[in-house]
Amino acid sequence: MDGSNLPEIRSTCPYCGVGCGVLLRPDGAGGVAVRGDPDHPANRGRLCSKGSALGETVGLDQRLLTPRVEGQDTDWDSALDLVADRFSQTIRDHGPDSVAFYVSGQLLTEDYYVANKLMKGFIGSANIDTNSRLCMASSVAGHKRAFGTDTVPGIYEDLEEADLVVLVGSNLAWCHPVLYQRLMAARQSRGTKIVVIDPRRTASCDQADMHLALQPGSDVALFNRLLTRIDGDQGCDAEFLNKANGLSVALEAAAADDPAVTGLSPDQIEAFCDLWIGTGRVVTIYSQGVNQSSSGTDKVNAILNCHLATGRIGRPGMGPFSVTGQPNAMGGREVGGLANMLACHLDLENAEHRTAVRGFWDAPAMPDKPGLKAVDLFQAIEAGQIRALWVIHTNPAVTMPEADRVAKAIKNCPFVVVTDITAQTDTARLADVLLPAAGWGEKSGTVTNSDRTISRQRAVLSPPGQARPDWQILSQVGTRMGWGLAFDYETPAEIFREYAALSGVARRFGRDFDISGFVDLSDEAYAALAPTRWPVTESGAGDRFFGEGAFFHPDGKARFIPVRHRAPAVQPDAEYPFVLNTGRIRDQWHTMTRSGLSPRLSAHLAEPFVDIHPRDAQDLGLAPADLAELKSPAGRGIFRVRITEDVRQGQLFAPIHWTGETAPSARVDALVPAVTDPISGQPESKATRVSVARLQAAWYGFAISTTPLEVEAEYWAVARTENGYRTELAGCSDIEDWEQAARGWFGVPDADLVSTSDPKRGTVRLAFVKDNKVLGALFVAREPVAIMRDYLSSRPDVTPAQLLAGRASGAFRDPGPTVCACFGVGAKTILRSIESGAVTSLDDIGQALHAGTNCGSCKPELADLLAKAEPIATPRVAEAG
Ligand code: SF4
Repeated sequence: MDGSNLPEIRSTCPYCGVGCGVLLRPDGAGGVAVRGDPDHPANRGRLCSKGSALGETVGLDQRLLTPRVEGQDTDWDSALDLVADRFSQTIRDHGPDSVAFYVSGQLLTEDYYVANKLMKGFIGSANIDTNSRLCMASSVAGHKRAFGTDTVPGIYEDLEEADLVVLVGSNLAWCHPVLYQRLMAARQSRGTKIVVIDPRRTASCDQADMHLALQPGSDVALFNRLLTRIDGDQGCDAEFLNKANGLSVALEAAAADDPAVTGLSPDQIEAFCDLWIGTGRVVTIYSQGVNQSSSGTDKVNAILNCHLATGRIGRPGMGPFSVTGQPNAMGGREVGGLANMLACHLDLENAEHRTAVRGFWDAPAMPDKPGLKAVDLFQAIEAGQIRALWVIHTNPAVTMPEADRVAKAIKNCPFVVVTDITAQTDTARLADVLLPAAGWGEKSGTVTNSDRTISRQRAVLSPPGQARPDWQILSQVGTRMGWGLAFDYETPAEIFREYAALSGVARRFGRDFDISGFVDLSDEAYAALAPTRWPVTESGAGDRFFGEGAFFHPDGKARFIPVRHRAPAVQPDAEYPFVLNTGRIRDQWHTMTRSGLSPRLSAHLAEPFVDIHPRDAQDLGLAPADLAELKSPAGRGIFRVRITEDVRQGQLFAPIHWTGETAPSARVDALVPAVTDPISGQPESKATRVSVARLQAAWYGFAISTTPLEVEAEYWAVARTENGYRTELAGCSDIEDWEQAARGWFGVPDADLVSTSDPKRGTVRLAFVKDNKVLGALFVAREPVAIMRDYLSSRPDVTPAQLLAGRASGAFRDPGPTVCACFGVGAKTILRSIESGAVTSLDDIGQALHAGTNCGSCKPELADLLAKAEPIATPRVAEAG
């Protein structure tokens, strides 16, 4: 059926915390066309490369379609009965704290609400935590200390109204691309100055006026120096100081810090202070580089102290701004998804709050102490204290620090339930019960983005197979556990109204989160709900917080928090001399269960990598495209080497996205220690001590195939292509019979073989053909394989002989690795245009090649290519040729 006549439906992107609106048009055949919603206040029609490729990720590929128990398909009643029975039995035998939920910022608010109500109000434990703990728990804790509640004061428009935007530990260009595009547009029109504070040179530095590559974990010392300078320069706002307590103690602590620990020169530090103090309209954006730290909460408060001292908060173009990683991280915070919070920003430790929520829910039980935060929770599983675990839409066997240990703990847990859209995750493989959930595009509810805007996600496709929405699955288990009346929801609108009513209760306690204006929202109004920023009361919707003070501590004042620099908890030493930083790349999302399905997105960086400084690489004998083995006390990993001055000597960077499904030896969180911030419980993911050595590979390989390979090798990494898969390989033992090994890997026992080899050079090239169709090809060499990977991955029409030549034939020119994912434009194509003199600016590139003209996410890389104006000095990942 042609869907061109079907109406477009408004929804929200399921990736980052920008929360862009999308317009979805189902094609009537299970697919959906996606474009940016011009009326959504977060993006005004823009989308980044990930959002633009959403339509490529909604198919049935890899979907879990039926409930499964111990690997066998079953029906919903049997699966839900089992889950309810085992949780009830465990609680009877071992108490409510013997069970736990580990949930996700991918959940919709209504799902989150039901999960939280079930665990905290009915099971009677607070052992529900979320992967948002790994993302921004330090911001939550910092906000609560300073403001009395977890309140984000500003709104996105502040970025456009600021004269100075400081990015601290935030690669906004890649991790919140549409916000970055808004900032770039503002810079063009009003000359906004930009400072990036990050140990690493990132894409966000390309347009920055200043990049402060400080030592990892030294942000507190830098902002303490700023606070001292603000005071010394008479930069404090005397009137605003009446609205906050504790400046003198904070100043005393700040003055005791030595800014030299930042590793920045005095000139750099003072130039930053001059700029910050001398610019009234300052927004300080911070993200994972601040939060994922053993001093993350103190870093947040060091930033907040400076904004409070100057009164630069809650006014147009001014304020601290925590940007969240996940689509509904904010919703989870609001609804009590963290183990130490109640719904609607009420406090678990507060007896009056507990009594009020318990009364509202008519709940039989309510814990009087916080539950276990993520790292502690998995350690309790390892210790046998938690005996039944329900993981919902997240993959802790990959993403938790000490991931190997966590995977083992989950494996040994007596009863594990996983709800997800796919069974193909490292965690799902360990589950006793798998429950198929409705995915993005199939489920309906609300999410809250980083500036407190609540938006609807709407269903445009039917859930496939037996998949169900999460609120329904959770409610059905709650009902089976004996609490049918409390969980007899029939629609997400009903849950939303209950949540809105509970926020009215929270208002009585002077909490910020108030959506009581939605309490009588009809089903029709919920269906049509436009993006709305909270608070939402009878008198209307909200704007900024704290411009006039009115903080949420009992005295209505904010708190300055005295903070001191603390170095990362684990320091490099002789055995582990490097500091490993981790983070996201532009075109992938979390563990790639959705974004990894898109060939376009996979073409940008197709393989896990580690960035290393040229001098370190030289010392270690590492060449571009080698493989490096990283070891920490917690684990090991193998990554492709990129040699770059983007990282400082002694420091490394590796991305977080690869898993047991896509590159089993490059699960970077296997190396990260389970060290946390003492207040927020957030793990330190940016400063892992590691050793580095060249992997002594006996052979390297590159394969293209129509189906995934079944490989046994020290290293492999797979990515989608338009025609199937591309796989990087390496092994440390010689293989005698390449044909036999390859036939096994490709699963082609009887396909025809075309091959060439050069025993002297140690190269082997094989292509398997059936019915005149190339099923796959393998290129093997003693050194990293030098061939045109992107050409080979994109040409299904060449003959086996052309294929085995490994390079472009005829007029076809190798595009090189993809830079512009929207139009599939490669680095080599762009460089050829630059070198020919045909293009000299971003606009020229856009006109000549279209690159950068859709979502704009690749503009920093285009600018980088223009600046270099010569072939890339360092081969891109997996681009040895
Ligand atoms: Fe989605 Fe990109 Fe918008 Fe984030 S910036 S919400 S990933 S479209």
